[in-house]
Amino acid sequence: MKIDLATIKKEKKNQVDLNFLLNLDTIDYYGDEIKVPSPVSVTGKLYVIDERLYITCNIKADLQVGCSRCLKSFTYELDEKVNAELVREESVIENDNLEDDLIFYQNDEIELVEMIKESIFINVPLKTICKDNCKGLCVQCGKDLNVEDCQCVIEEEEEEILDPRLAKLKELLQDD
Ligand SMILES: [Zn+2]
Ligand SMILES: [Zn+2]
Repeated sequence: MKIDLATIKKEKKNQVDLNFLLNLDTIDYYGDEIKVPSPVSVTGKLYVIDERLYITCNIKADLQVGCSRCLKSFTYELDEKVNAELVREESVIENDNLEDDLIFYQNDEIELVEMIKESIFINVPLKTICKDNCKGLCVQCGKDLNVEDCQCVIEEEEEEILDPRLAKLKELLQDD
């Protein structure tokens, strides 16, 4: 889906409403694929103030991700707001104010799908947890502790683990 920004400017429209559903199926995520089982909802607007173009929208997406603790797959509901100025890529060098959130576009066209994919991509949390009290897997037998307890006794490390450099030093001192 492309939006022709030249037309918006020419027709002196100062607002374009965005309200659509987008089928993405999957999103590439560091070589992995995140499944997007239902359509992504986008609502918001593009608007012009003083010849500058802005976007504000809400992106809601269901993402099929794995729990960082128990590894089970679950649906993570992503709900993100995007507020940014749209800047022509060609004009960046002259633009000295790069502090605001900026989204770049080329040739008076904004590729909304790419922009939305990127917004989802950067907002996927590094750790996704299926539920707050997920107990995760036993580090010894690998059982899902949400499903059943196991009999493993996890022994606390009693001996102090010595820094290998200090261990070497201790050896040297003892040799003396
Ligand atoms: Zn979990
Ligand atoms: Zn266990």
